[in-house]
Amino acid sequence: TQHHRIVVAGSGPGGLSIAARVAAQGLEVALIEPSSRHVYQPFWTLAGAGIVDHELSVRPMADMIPSAVKWLKTSVTGFQPELNQLQTEDGQTLSYDFLVVALGLQIDWHKIPGLPERLGQQGVCSIYDFSGSEQTWELIRNFKGGHAIFTFPPPPIKCAGAPQKILYLAEEYFRKANVRDKTRVSYFCATPTIFSVKKYADALIRQCVKPRDIATHFNMRLKSVDAENRQALFENSESGEEQRIDYDLLHVVPPMSAPDVIENSSLANAEGWVDVDKATLRHKHFDNVFAIGDCAGLPTSKTAAAIRAQSPVLAANLLAAVNGQAPVATYDGYTACPLVTGYGKAILAEFDYELQPQETFPFDQSKESLLLYLLKRFVLPQLYWRALIKGRKWPWSKVGT
Ligand code: FAD
Repeated sequence: TQHHRIVVAGSGPGGLSIAARVAAQGLEVALIEPSSRHVYQPFWTLAGAGIVDHELSVRPMADMIPSAVKWLKTSVTGFQPELNQLQTEDGQTLSYDFLVVALGLQIDWHKIPGLPERLGQQGVCSIYDFSGSEQTWELIRNFKGGHAIFTFPPPPIKCAGAPQKILYLAEEYFRKANVRDKTRVSYFCATPTIFSVKKYADALIRQCVKPRDIATHFNMRLKSVDAENRQALFENSESGEEQRIDYDLLHVVPPMSAPDVIENSSLANAEGWVDVDKATLRHKHFDNVFAIGDCAGLPTSKTAAAIRAQSPVLAANLLAAVNGQAPVATYDGYTACPLVTGYGKAILAEFDYELQPQETFPFDQSKESLLLYLLKRFVLPQLYWRALIKGRKWPWSKVGT
């Protein structure tokens, strides 16, 4: 059995930012991550609308991991927190003094029959995937009119704004391409409202949905896809009624869930996510285990922006635990979503566990603006690469990625 002082599982923004912060304190850290590429997923929305090349979202993992951190290039296959141990794909058992779980979430393409084998073909696409983002742009660019459907699955999902961003960008592109008058644009949403925070929901309906003639259908969940006949089957979550709808373009946001390796372990809560305290990010039963990011069982929206706020809190509480002290910092559920509403326009939703807006700028961020678009397109990606994943302090107190 190999032993490490601190093991971080997963090298997305959550795992990287914590590994960098604790390594900077001179602690021994091993980082378990199978992928040789790190992806900046927020770019997939822009890639899906032809704003950036999807290749810009990728960087070599080796360049992301701080030199003081030991990279174990394998996957975690099992957790035994009772024994302070975990197993890896390459057949090893690792023990640790402290564990940080940062495995992200799992995309369940297979839960929509007919979907996985059709992605990128016959009008079916999704930005929730690296190559899928490029295929989405192909389909939007070549769209000749008809019924364009965009879906939103039952939550939780990561970046709950992304399904709408691609909707608004595509709708504007159809106008630019002179196909909008031959196109019906529909949004099928499994939730009862368009956004969880009322201020932003109202602003989106008023500024985007109504004036741009987008048909919204709430409480409608995509059940299956019949790509041969270009039909999507939806179920109304209130009445249970099913409806078969013809489409020419179908942008699917797949259901998502906690990674199986967490769900099948004693780290999980009833829904399969890591069962951490929502303020301290420390596990409710195992004092030497913490979780960050999408895999953590936190009642807030899963974003990289949330990780930006969680990272300093988790690092402070982990260092306190290493020194035998009680947690010293608390997380208020801060999350953010720059909702791109067109080519050159965005609003910026920022809120906490109470779904109360927590805005950074001294103007109303629910109003579409070029400034917020430029922030999303140019500033936040730089802050992601230069500050967030390096575990450095953010230049101002809030604002997401
Ligand atoms: P991830 O980034 O998913 O990283 C998890 C890591 O764990 C991966 O490297 C994976 O390879 C590794 N891993 C998985 N299983 C194992 C295993 N068994 N063993 C070891 N390693 C494993 N967020 C924003 O803030 N703003 C946005 O505008 C935004 N837009 C988005 C648009 C799209 C289309 C998508 C898909 C996401 C968007 N997000 C956005 C969300 C953001 O990308 C995620 O919330 C963020 O990446 C979560 O980070 P994480 O570290 O928790 O997980």
